[in-house]
Amino acid sequence: MNDCLFCKIINEDIPSTKIYEDDKVFVFADIEPTAPIHWLAIPKEHIERLSDVNEANSEVISHIYEVISSLASQHEEFKNGFRVVSNCGEAAGQSVFHIHFHVLAGRDFAWPAG
Ligand code: AMP
Ligand code: ZN
Repeated sequence: MNDCLFCKIINEDIPSTKIYEDDKVFVFADIEPTAPIHWLAIPKEHIERLSDVNEANSEVISHIYEVISSLASQHEEFKNGFRVVSNCGEAAGQSVFHIHFHVLAGRDFAWPAG
């Protein structure tokens, strides 16, 4: 999508610190990290938000979780636990409307979330 920040990051029109890429998924460092590891895992296909996931496009979402699991096994910071979050909609804190999964590791995380 032309005016989407994360589509521009995937196309490398806007620079990012890339962690992982394949034909369907892109993972990069969040610009304002809230944990020692704070990555964003996104599909290359523009899906606006979690409530737009359906039978036709959900394969990439399971693939994203496979990628996260694989990356977690490769990085020591994930050993004691980690968190994956997708904020859906303004009230949940979504500010970029290209679905993304925050991948957080390297510290303890409180629950319930704020
Ligand atoms: P959310 O508020 O859940 O929609 O998450 C959007 C995330 O995108 C925030 O954590 C921002 O820090 C992050 N972000 C915004 N712009 C950039 C950028 N240019 N590069 C990397 N992360 C970004
Ligand atoms: Zn997009």
